[in-house]
Amino acid sequence: MARIGLGYDSHRFAAGGPLVLAGVRIDHDRHLAGHSDGDAVLHAVTDAVLGAMAAGDIGELFPDSDPRWRGADSAVFIRRAAELADQRGCRVGNCDVTILTELPMLSPHRQRMRGRIAELLGIAIEAVSVKAKTAESMGAIGRGEGLAAMAIVMLTRTDQPGGDDGNRQ
Ligand code: MG
Repeated sequence: MARIGLGYDSHRFAAGGPLVLAGVRIDHDRHLAGHSDGDAVLHAVTDAVLGAMAAGDIGELFPDSDPRWRGADSAVFIRRAAELADQRGCRVGNCDVTILTELPMLSPHRQRMRGRIAELLGIAIEAVSVKAKTAESMGAIGRGEGLAAMAIVMLTRTDQPGGDDGNRQ
C-alpha cells in the first residue's frame, strides 16, 4: 500500500543572510522571515509527509502561537513527521521537491539539500530529488519578494510500526 502527500510553503525574504533552505546554510544577503527559521523547503516536505497520512498540517502540530517554535530549527518538524510515519508502520519511499525563487542560484547547493532532506527522513539520497526554477520575473516571487517550495512524498508501508525493512540508512 502506498499513499501520496503534497506540501507547499512560501516565506518572504528579509535583509541579511545566511539563507537556510532544506536545512542547509547558503551564503546569501537575505534570509527567509518566519516564526521558525523560515525554511520553506523543510516545511513543504513536512506537510507532504503529514498529508500522506492525513495527519493534519505543520501549523496544527507546531502552532506559531507557541513560543517553543520561535526561531526553531525546522529539522525538528520534519523529524517529527517522519517519526509519526514510523509509528504508523510507514516510511517515505521517495520525495520530490521544486523550489521557486529568482535568487540565489540553487544548483550548486542541490546535492547538499538532497543529502540533508534524506538524512532527516532517514532514507537514501537517491530517494530525494530537489529541483529549482525561477518564476521568469512574474509575480511576487518573480520580483524577489520571497520564495516558495512544493514537495510530494510517497509513503509506503513497512508492516511493522518502527520497523526496519532494510531500506533505511
Ligand atoms: Mg513555513
